Amino acid sequence: MSVVPLHTQHQRRFEENRFVYPVLSRRSEGISIGVNLNPDKVCNFDCIYCQVDRTTQSETRFVGVEQLLAELEDTLTLTASGELFDHEKLRNTPPQFRRLNDIAFSGDGEPTTYKNFDEIIAACAEVKRRLGLGAVKMVLITNASMFHRSHVVRGLEILEQNNGEIWAKLEAGTEAYFKLIDRTPIPFQQILDNITAAAKIRPLVIQALFMRVSGQPPSRQELEAFCDRLNEILAAGGKLKLVQVYTVARKPTESYVTPLADAEVDAIVELVKRRTGIAAKAYYGAAQP
Ligand code: SF4
Repeated sequence: MSVVPLHTQHQRRFEENRFVYPVLSRRSEGISIGVNLNPDKVCNFDCIYCQVDRTTQSETRFVGVEQLLAELEDTLTLTASGELFDHEKLRNTPPQFRRLNDIAFSGDGEPTTYKNFDEIIAACAEVKRRLGLGAVKMVLITNASMFHRSHVVRGLEILEQNNGEIWAKLEAGTEAYFKLIDRTPIPFQQILDNITAAAKIRPLVIQALFMRVSGQPPSRQELEAFCDRLNEILAAGGKLKLVQVYTVARKPTESYVTPLADAEVDAIVELVKRRTGIAAKAYYGAAQP
């Protein structure tokens, strides 16, 4: 029996992963280990700018918990040791980004719709702890639509106890614009109520993606209304530590969606800071890594 060097085994595992994928993240300025809880690509939103390719069906329909945890352990080990950067896909990572920043629950749908959300968060936190990587952040990238469900409430608590951060999506100020962009039957007020309730317990990060829709950027009134919604969350006792304002960076679902110019993103950041007092940061379109 020939012995395959550990290094090679890891490389093979990374390529064959089904649920865990390392990415160089422009937002995190480091390596983010993505965990995909929605391999079937099903989402309860249908955002016009979504970058998940739903024109093809995924081979993997269900989460295999054991395999997911093994992939997470391998990928964390590879990243922490630096071996990850021997891989051709990540070989060109600039030196300042060669750091493990976080484990991100995102993937091809809404992670909180996963039925055992609380259990999987706990199990991933345990892997992180076992590897001595307790300080590594766990980020939940979410549309906040399920925060009122009890297993999600528990999952958010576990996340918080394990150096977690919630990045909740909010990119409209009115029901009409919310429906235009996010295309879901879930009422806008439910999302606002969910974000408010979660933000009363711990500070949240808001992710706001603005874009041109058939050539039109969001109107001034829509952006003012967006700031009003943020102010209402604060007035209700919610804590918001950052608003990430970004735009389309990869091919969106709908061809009529195009990115804002950098100056337009900057202008929204300034408006948010001025109208709400919350810290805000710009993330630009396609030119960014
Ligand atoms: S919530 Fe996320 S995964 Fe779902 S449709 Fe919108 S962008 Fe895509």
